[in-house]
Amino acid sequence: MQRIYLDANATTPVLPAVVEAMLPYFTECSGNPSSAHLAGQRTRAAVERARAAVASLLHCAAKEIVFTSGGTESDNLALTGILQPFLDHNEPAHLITTQIEHHAVLYAAEALEKRGIRVTYLAPNRGGLIEPAALEAALTPETKLISVMLANNETGVIQPVGKLARIAKAYNPAILVHTDAVQAAGKLPLDTAGEFKNIDLLSISGHKMYAPQGTGALFIRSGVHLMPLQYGGPQERQRRAGTENVPGIVALGRAAELAQEFLHQALEPHSSQPTAHSSNIASLSGLRDSLEQGLLAAIPGTHINGSTAHRAPNTTNIRFEGIDAESLLIALDMQGIAASFGAACQSGATEPSHVLLAMGLTPAEARSSLRLSLSRHTTAEEIDRALQIIPAAVARLRKLA
Ligand code: PLP
Repeated sequence: MQRIYLDANATTPVLPAVVEAMLPYFTECSGNPSSAHLAGQRTRAAVERARAAVASLLHCAAKEIVFTSGGTESDNLALTGILQPFLDHNEPAHLITTQIEHHAVLYAAEALEKRGIRVTYLAPNRGGLIEPAALEAALTPETKLISVMLANNETGVIQPVGKLARIAKAYNPAILVHTDAVQAAGKLPLDTAGEFKNIDLLSISGHKMYAPQGTGALFIRSGVHLMPLQYGGPQERQRRAGTENVPGIVALGRAAELAQEFLHQALEPHSSQPTAHSSNIASLSGLRDSLEQGLLAAIPGTHINGSTAHRAPNTTNIRFEGIDAESLLIALDMQGIAASFGAACQSGATEPSHVLLAMGLTPAEARSSLRLSLSRHTTAEEIDRALQIIPAAVARLRKLA
């Protein structure tokens, strides 16, 4: 049985071209980039090429990119790195974030709160969107940092981060703005010189954009100073000590180049070849829309969670009335479909999704919701098969209930 992978928001497969780019850095090109000899200089050059590629994806300068071990570290570095100095100097500081962040931000905020930072967690509206008025009402003279994610990992809903950043800077230009763009990188254009010119810090993760797990980066706008999370060597301009993960960084750079190609591909509809992979955003969102429309048409009592007007092109979060999503996940897994009911780290947990609860769903509604997230590898033929398997599985479970 050919398995159908509809869990790309949990992790994406590493692209063959990315594997090819990183492999030599395990073997024949294995110097430490801090070494002065030729092997070191070669790996240093590879790291800097990758930095330029990631900077190009984000439309920023190479020196504004710090390589990290992934989205979690980037988020923690942004929040703690900016707010720790206020704690050290006993200065009051206020952080504004949202109730729908990934735990990498939420739990970092909670840890800072325990240590004396005041934190406001903005609630989304029913569509999963943070409204500008909510931010306006929360700003105070002590607000130092705002952290609002770009695309939500569970619903795909895209926050108006550019607008929120403009509001914050209009209130006080000294307020810094962070966005967790882990689920947006490679799916949406990320222009830190254009739409996001008021964003100071932006997190990305390699394994959500076809590079390996354990790779990532934080954009830190020139002039923004943060305290490092760890102490050691002077790597990454003293912002992230430790010998660089050279193969991982090379892979992230190559994935960034391929993401840019994907984002710039002519917006032609999906190929009529059923086995063709998505080569651009329009074909990816076209496949997601056919999956969604097919499920809504085939299964009564089915609802989409979150505003469909502003969404990452690959994600849908669907509620099936009367269904326990955990049972549905198991049934689908047995039939060869990998899906999820929220963040990957929550799978297997019995707690309903904090994101769906914050959007006003009841715990029972949240527990009957499933996330389906497509990758660039998802084919039209796979969507057709999923449209046979999922309605039949829902019907069977409903009969049993
Ligand atoms: N932020 C978001 C929105 C995510 O979806 C994830 C992972 O699921 C992370 C942060 C954490 O990234 P990583 O797994 O690279 O630590």
